Amino acid sequence: MGEAERYDIVIIGAGHNGTTAAAYLAKCGLSVCVLEERPECGGAQENAEPIAGVHISPHAVALYGGAAPGWEQLELWRYGSRMDWAAQRLSGEGFASGTLLGLLCTDGVSYASAKDFDGWLKLSGMLGNPPFIKELLRATFWSPPHPPEVEVNAETIPFMQVYKERMPEVWTEELLEWDMFDLMDEYMETEPFKIYQAYIAWMSGAAGHFEGMAIPALESVVAATLYTTGTVPMGAIHGFYHTLFRCAVAHGAIFRTCCPVDEIIIRHGRAVGVRLRDNATWGNKVIWADKAVLSATDIKQTFNKLIGPQYVDPSVRKRVDDLSLKGGTLYVNAFLTREPLRYRAKFKEAEQTGVCYPMDSREIYYEHVADCMGVQGNPTMPPERYPWLWAGSSRIFTPEYHSQCTRPGMSIESSIVCYVPPPEYHVDGPDAINKDKNKMDAYMRQAFSTVVEGLEEPNLVHHWGLTPQEQEFRNTGMLGGTWYGVRQCRDQWWNERPLPEMARYRVPGIDGLYLCHQSSAHPGGLCLMAIGYNLMHILIEDGIAEPGDWWYASPWYIPEKGKISAVPREGKIPV
Ligand SMILES: Cc1cc2nc3c(=O)[nH]c(=O)nc-3n(C[C@H](O)[C@H](O)[C@H](O)COP(=O)(O)OP(=O)(O)OC[C@H]3O[C@@H](n4cnc5c(N)ncnc54)[C@H](O)[C@@H]3O)c2cc1C
Repeated sequence: MGEAERYDIVIIGAGHNGTTAAAYLAKCGLSVCVLEERPECGGAQENAEPIAGVHISPHAVALYGGAAPGWEQLELWRYGSRMDWAAQRLSGEGFASGTLLGLLCTDGVSYASAKDFDGWLKLSGMLGNPPFIKELLRATFWSPPHPPEVEVNAETIPFMQVYKERMPEVWTEELLEWDMFDLMDEYMETEPFKIYQAYIAWMSGAAGHFEGMAIPALESVVAATLYTTGTVPMGAIHGFYHTLFRCAVAHGAIFRTCCPVDEIIIRHGRAVGVRLRDNATWGNKVIWADKAVLSATDIKQTFNKLIGPQYVDPSVRKRVDDLSLKGGTLYVNAFLTREPLRYRAKFKEAEQTGVCYPMDSREIYYEHVADCMGVQGNPTMPPERYPWLWAGSSRIFTPEYHSQCTRPGMSIESSIVCYVPPPEYHVDGPDAINKDKNKMDAYMRQAFSTVVEGLEEPNLVHHWGLTPQEQEFRNTGMLGGTWYGVRQCRDQWWNERPLPEMARYRVPGIDGLYLCHQSSAHPGGLCLMAIGYNLMHILIEDGIAEPGDWWYASPWYIPEKGKISAVPREGKIPV
């Protein structure tokens, strides 16, 4: 065993969020050590190769993080990924009235109307002069929650400020009460278009039917639509993870895999390091942190295992235990076929644009909500009506540049996903879906076959169906809930997430310990680099990070009284 090691910062978990934070902090000149339990870094941003020459994405596929300041601040073009905002503007303009958007309904293809597009483009900021889409997305996701002394209301919420200034006719206090359907009924026209938006929102975190979540729900659709279309990084989202990893390493961060953390060491009310599990492959079992420990693993593990019970008020621990995971989760499917999958004749016209089925009406939408969130068992709807989303390889990758299947004469579609209850809430127990795996796989194929041809033998070579629990095994940080970590509803949004007293990423009563995981911090998953960027404001406030000229704070950030402002020109003077 070697001597005990010391770093300025120790980060638990090398998923997307821990790695983003490592890149930011290492760029500040701090010594950073990231400890990862699994043999590989990346967490839920992995790209697996279950058989040689075939890649599937068991978790993340779409790039929601296009608006992130991290592209510029971390200079990601140096490390493998470039964001071209001008091209994004163009792709947004392409999504304009007059475009034919075919949507899949039980009777065949239905088309969005000009009013649908105009309403959508207006709300997304695309019709502003100049367009303010990036600003609106940053205000919604890339902005740290306000300090506790600031009242959160229609005047102070960042996205409300953006609407008030840039498009006052949209601003109304009711935006904070509406669900997404209320908003869409005001600005859009056709039912299939609204159902399509609501589904993408539900699949993206904030459900279309959650009260008070109209704007975050819509913005998550905007992030997915404008930044995903044609813009998936080489090597999938895991390829983007490599970019972040390279950036962190280039700035000096150390990554150790097969190093599960067993305990956060707390002395005199301060997190001072971590203890590794006995089976960790690294000799030193204690690693000291001179400035901070960041828990970039899930909140329940952080509070139930890593922080000793003597350091957390039992009521806080109970409230963490009670955090709702009821949002739902995904059954993820990948299909290896001989001929590529094709749409049936009835749906052919929507081959390019129809990715969700069936988009008929709120009746089907709510039937599905009742199935997942009410019945909370295996699906009871007939498979022909069961909704799904095709975020398949053929949709989001350019095969000439980065084919996901290099086996001659074969084709891969990964992934087609369906919403199911999180294991913890399944009426028949957490492993119920696993036990019925063959039946579930057959049900999924039946559901997709309503629209798609080619899912039968001999065309079908292999179907990888991943139950929610199997995904959790792949990603030890995910303990149920959505891929957002917990549900994205009014009581888990911004200054309420995960609990109001921790919304600014600090753990009360334990100095030097910060939360940095999708399940513990605003805004959760999907909005890449958001937690790392938001957390930076707090680490600057606490005197831990001192970034160079490359740093800029969120324009809506409000410093906490008595702390160092994260706005560069306000320097180190506590406000
Ligand atoms: C099915 C699914 C689909 C998704 N789709 C998308 C998408 O299309 N686009 C998108 O952007 N995002 C998507 N996501 C979400 C995205 O993958 C996550 O938001 C993101 O990966 C979360 O990163 P994280 O760092 O917070 O957590 P994680 O990825 O959970 O990383 C946590 C890391 O901590 C490690 N760890 C856990 N415990 C310990 C310990 N005790 N010691 C050391 N290490 C530990 C874990 O092994 C893991 O590597 C999806 C997720 C899922 C599950």
